[in-house]
Amino acid sequence: SLPASDALLEGLNPQQREAVTHEGAPLLIVAGAGSGKTAVLTRRIAYLLAERGVAPGQVLAITFTNKAAAEMRERVAGLVGPRAHAMWVSTFHSSCVRILRAQSALLTGMNSNFTIYDSDDSRRLLTMIAKDLELDTKKYSARLLATQISNLKNELIGPDEAAATASSDPAPLPKIVASVYAQYQKRLRSANAFDFDDLIGETVALLQAHPQVTEYYRRRFRHVLVDEYQDTNHAQYVLVRTLVGDPDEPGDVPPSELCVVGDADQSIYAFRGATIRNIEEFERDYPQARTILLEQNYRSTQNILSAANAVISRNSGRREKRLWTDAGTGEAITGYVADNEHDEARFVASEIDRLVDTGEVKYSDIAVFYRTNNASRPFEDVFIRHGVPYKVVGGVRFYERKEVRDAVAYLKALDNPHDTVSLRRILNTPRRGIGDRAEACVAVHAERHGVSFGQALLDAAEGNVALLNTRAQKAIAGFVGMLDDLRIMLSETDADGNDAVDIGDVVEAIIERSGYRAELAASDDPQDGTRLDNLHELVSVAREFSSDARNAAGVDDTEPEEGEPAAGSLAAFLEKVSLVADADQVPDNDAGVVTLMTLHTAKGLEFPVVFVTGWEDGQFPHMRALGDPAELSEERRLAYVGITRARRRLYLSRAVLRSAWGQPVTNPESRFLQEVPQELIDWRRSDPGPARGQSIGSGTGSRFSAGESRSATPSFGPARGRNNHLVLAVGDRVTHDKYGLGTVLETKGSGPTATVVIDFGSAGKVRLMLVGGVPMTKL
Ligand code: ATP
Ligand code: MG
Repeated sequence: SLPASDALLEGLNPQQREAVTHEGAPLLIVAGAGSGKTAVLTRRIAYLLAERGVAPGQVLAITFTNKAAAEMRERVAGLVGPRAHAMWVSTFHSSCVRILRAQSALLTGMNSNFTIYDSDDSRRLLTMIAKDLELDTKKYSARLLATQISNLKNELIGPDEAAATASSDPAPLPKIVASVYAQYQKRLRSANAFDFDDLIGETVALLQAHPQVTEYYRRRFRHVLVDEYQDTNHAQYVLVRTLVGDPDEPGDVPPSELCVVGDADQSIYAFRGATIRNIEEFERDYPQARTILLEQNYRSTQNILSAANAVISRNSGRREKRLWTDAGTGEAITGYVADNEHDEARFVASEIDRLVDTGEVKYSDIAVFYRTNNASRPFEDVFIRHGVPYKVVGGVRFYERKEVRDAVAYLKALDNPHDTVSLRRILNTPRRGIGDRAEACVAVHAERHGVSFGQALLDAAEGNVALLNTRAQKAIAGFVGMLDDLRIMLSETDADGNDAVDIGDVVEAIIERSGYRAELAASDDPQDGTRLDNLHELVSVAREFSSDARNAAGVDDTEPEEGEPAAGSLAAFLEKVSLVADADQVPDNDAGVVTLMTLHTAKGLEFPVVFVTGWEDGQFPHMRALGDPAELSEERRLAYVGITRARRRLYLSRAVLRSAWGQPVTNPESRFLQEVPQELIDWRRSDPGPARGQSIGSGTGSRFSAGESRSATPSFGPARGRNNHLVLAVGDRVTHDKYGLGTVLETKGSGPTATVVIDFGSAGKVRLMLVGGVPMTKL
């Protein structure tokens, strides 16, 4: 039986209630952090199902992460029962994949088992193109090209339009980008692949080219709801508008009901093309729109809110909001000035110990935020030593590790034989005697005969590719034969004709048959042991996926919907792997670990205890933003997001010295920290320097023993020799500002001429000089 509407509206304030029950015109809910926007969206869906006779299949709800989607679906199911599982609750990307797969017959040159290229795949493809076009890759790096093309796609500008605009631009970059863009699209299509941005852009193009398809979805999705609307980009805006329909445009299907929620003060993805224009001009875009403001905050104490309000109020051109709470003043915010990043981490760890010891909180109630991924390292070091259980969200992610990506590339190539990037990635990985020259022969053959690289490999195996020597031909034939065998394994079905193979067995077979296991097992590099462990982990992930699918098949006999890969299929597994995002790895509440993540990833989340660290000008706000008012405003919004994640206790800390690019750098206190009213902060240890004019142990009600005095000489590890040369040995782990984590493979020479070769995983092997100032730290 369905709950009565009273139950669904229980505990809501009048504005929330209105937002849940509003009918008809487009609805915009704008409100500050923690005011219940996401909660209202969830209740609204439940209310639609329970009170307004809406079928679950008529709902399309968009969230920012897959994890948020899963949570929302669970909550709605908790309110109205299991039928809620038939709703589409997902990210923009996942929804678009489903639409594209369902409508793949209409996509020229693509079929429904298209591959999704993630940003690493895209960059590989761009590297190949840049090489073929003989571009100066120093000037036009794959990364730069990827960003430029992504920006165009976010604005729904195709290659032709980009070329037309570029032709009247005196600068060379737009022309080069336009020609790379055209090639890139061509190659994506011949690989039967979409990149992330295509998922949105191609869905928009599909809907615009086929009004009957648009009408089909509009008839189907009578309710479209979007969370975190402030972080939608232009392409996503157009997608929503197209799906919902324009009331002024005559059509057979009336517009769907639209409900979007957001907070312009929390817009932090401008670098991905997000624009708060979508919020600011909602009322103009939808003239009949109803706007509801929520002002009561249910998350934080007044002290935390006051700090957040004080900081964000420094941004100009924003809509003033009056957030209030009846949660009471709460604890003072704790401030801490550390000698350096290690001291900061020690402080955080000892506070965590103390709080957990009192029994006041559990580890899982606590989160530590920082501005950039590489800042997690000092916390990890200290947490390991203190025995604080933790999980780092993001950074070099499991699925980004080289060996995991290699294994996934095998799966992708099995699923889509035209997937050029994956095929070329695994062709000689592990090494099997197919060198660059052989690969080039195959690529030339593909180009010359207008066939995919996968087809060209088959031709090569048959001996039909020019200039290929017999040894390479044999090796390619072996490779092609191995893929065939694996495909046969995949096609096994049970008596009912359902997929019978466990994806975990397939991954196992890949590791074995490819020679990967033998290569890693034979190596005496300890890192290779870790790599083998990671591959085993992937086997477990795949096994779990297959067993979940089998269990679900017993309970829920529903046919897969159009666009949905069959449960348990390889395509379903790859989709899950491809669309996993940082925030999806946030541990569950009962995991019993402290969560470490960047401020960006923290969006939408809340924790009883929050440490926001690294409040230094140059760190947070980020160096890059210091001279740019627009970027500075964006950084301030990030500060607002960080502060407002805290429910009961908030810690703000900074380090006087911090190593950046391997050198200790003195950073002044973050201007944002100065914007927090000082009476709100209880300084455990304050800066004795002239900037702040406070002395140790001062501040309101300091309970900290002054025994721990500041030491003037920061201690740094032994990683640097004289003149700042990094001293590295084979096997050392490093982190590089540009390439990320790596392992030293080889060292050569000494002093100013010393060089090392470092394996940066998916970023490749790089030879680097070690003269002072290399932006790299030894771990
Ligand atoms: P953000 O801007 O950070 O995404 P939000 O506006 O989406 O925040 P929610 O996460 O929905 O806010 O809600 C914040 C907290 O307040 C949650 O713990 C939620 O359960 C609680 N909450 C929301 N509305 C109410 C209410 N009417 N009564 C009690 N608690 C509420
Ligand atoms: Mg929210």
